[in-house]
Amino acid sequence: MFDSQPAVLVVDLDNTTFDYDRGLAEHMVRTTGQGPSGPPEFYDYARSGWFPTNQDWLAAHSAAVMEGLFARMWPYDGALEGLASLREDGFVVKFATAHGSRSWMPGPDGDELARVERETTAAGLRMLGVEYDELHFVASKAEVAGDLYIDDAPSHLADLDARGLPRIAYDQAYNRHLPGLRATNWDELGSVIRARLGA
Ligand SMILES: [Mg+2]
Repeated sequence: MFDSQPAVLVVDLDNTTFDYDRGLAEHMVRTTGQGPSGPPEFYDYARSGWFPTNQDWLAAHSAAVMEGLFARMWPYDGALEGLASLREDGFVVKFATAHGSRSWMPGPDGDELARVERETTAAGLRMLGVEYDELHFVASKAEVAGDLYIDDAPSHLADLDARGLPRIAYDQAYNRHLPGLRATNWDELGSVIRARLGA
């Protein structure tokens, strides 16, 4: 299909391939009896009304991760099929996630959280039988070489834009202010990827 090297896709996990918000919301219901009223409007759980402060979000995130949040991820409709089909067509799929790369929680607790994030993420992908070529735990997506990046986070999308790296925004309420390529579901994402890379 390709004249030279296969095209490399750098794909985010949370809120792009898997529904992190759903996992977090289920954890909230399980632990407090109450979930959020709707999807986050901002890329900020406190500002979106999910938690009083982002420290509360971090505490809930940590507890959820320790309980295996990433070992039981919810793929978006068509995501796993879409990945398999892209690989069948010759695309290389590199996952790039911030899981386990954060330094915002100092000390041994932060190290342990990062370790569990990395381990349970790999285990979750294995258990779901997800097809991919590489898994990278990185703070910045540009650390992973690729031809096209797919992400939901406004900060990552803006960083890729600033570096002149081609990307597709996976549509979420909090990234709609950003112009450029966008996909609202995995069917559409497959089409946008193939159109962009001429496959
Ligand atoms: Mg994400």
